[in-house]
Amino acid sequence: MVKIVVDPKCTGCETCVNTCPVGVYEIKDGKSVPSKSSECLVCRACEAQCPEGAIQVIE
Ligand code: SF4
Ligand code: SF4
Repeated sequence: MVKIVVDPKCTGCETCVNTCPVGVYEIKDGKSVPSKSSECLVCRACEAQCPEGAIQVIE
């Protein structure tokens, strides 16, 4: 089971939404929410691309 943590410093830039190949993220109230984390492939593209370093993908 993969756990995804988005730090409150998220700016809602949507980079992770556009990067994730399986659509894990959506923006709610200006912040990224990993609402489909069960679909995560642990490719870590979102961690690498987030300009704020706000994402942690924990296996
Ligand atoms: S890429 Fe980072 S800062 Fe941008 S919406 Fe996603 S978590 Fe937030
Ligand atoms: S690790 Fe890959 S599959 Fe998982 S949420 Fe990030 S971009 Fe999506």
